[in-house]
Amino acid sequence: MKLPTRIVLHVLHMPLRFPFETSFGRVTQQETILVEAEDDGLSGWGEVPASAQPHYSSETVVTAAYVIRDFLAPALFASRLRTPADCPALFHRVRGHAMAKAGLETALWDLEARRRGVPVAKLYGATRKFIESGVSLGIDPMGLLMKRVEDFAAKGYRRIKLKIKPGWDGKPLAEARKRLPAGFPLTADANAAYTPAHTAHLRRLDRFRLDYLEQPLGHEDLADHAALAKVLRTPICLDESITSADLARNAVRMKACRVVNIKPSRVGGPTKAIEIHDLCRKAGIPVWCGGLLESGVGRLHNVAIAALPGFTKPGDLSGSDRYYSPDVIDEPVAVAPDGTIALRSRPGIGADVRQDVLRRRRRERIVLKP
Ligand SMILES: [Mg+2]
Repeated sequence: MKLPTRIVLHVLHMPLRFPFETSFGRVTQQETILVEAEDDGLSGWGEVPASAQPHYSSETVVTAAYVIRDFLAPALFASRLRTPADCPALFHRVRGHAMAKAGLETALWDLEARRRGVPVAKLYGATRKFIESGVSLGIDPMGLLMKRVEDFAAKGYRRIKLKIKPGWDGKPLAEARKRLPAGFPLTADANAAYTPAHTAHLRRLDRFRLDYLEQPLGHEDLADHAALAKVLRTPICLDESITSADLARNAVRMKACRVVNIKPSRVGGPTKAIEIHDLCRKAGIPVWCGGLLESGVGRLHNVAIAALPGFTKPGDLSGSDRYYSPDVIDEPVAVAPDGTIALRSRPGIGADVRQDVLRRRRRERIVLKP
């Protein structure tokens, strides 16, 4: 493929419509980098949803901008890339920095799709016309949280997930179960807040018949997850632990999980996400697509990837109006009344970036050339 003539990094501060609290803490605004790959009057857009603090992962917007500027973009400009799928091999010498790599790779996929006049989902190998949407609800006062549980179930969302931590698990799950129709897919996400010492306590969560329990233990604790999986009836889903295709392969082999949450940004980009999708599919492990408070740009890439055939569980991809108002794209991601998000037929990610929002939210603009 033809290389972009320049890469522009737009560092944005996006205020969240509601504060979002997980076991890591509470955020009221999200920092993110939109990556713009330009060529011949076309712009391809990607995103690095790294946030300001190294809490969810070790990356931040500052480390990502630095790694793209000093390492990834120079490697790209010096390369003979045949397809964006070559990015993981090209960036292999840079260890880690998955989100930075994903941001640049997604911009190249969007640019390539726009050049060919096809939706980016087609290049990713998507087979679905729509995806099922679930919602992830942060830690909030019980009354407010239960109102949200009822509201989102009524809005047609196909799965509800509650963030939990020690001291905040059995009670909200019991309350949510009471309010939801029998058999409604309910899950819990601990964001690595428990330890093997909590095993007996976690076994008691089996009574809520969760669709799965997401990342109960530390992100490096694959063997501990495998031991816990043996005594839980509830399937374990891994999220933070799956930072690469090799770790996904090892987790599956060790039976550390029965479900995998693939976040394309966390695993180094679409190509790696598709590799993990393929290996899980072969092993009979259902996957679903998670998000990281992305703006509409990252969200649309995720929707396109989530339309691959192995994504058989509802993802965390809710409408972008839930987080940002206005969003940075001209046609926000919307969830239909039946809880689905339709794939787009416009070229690329299927939306354009709003220059007014970009200018208003931008804190820094970094231009990179060969
Ligand atoms: Mg999670």
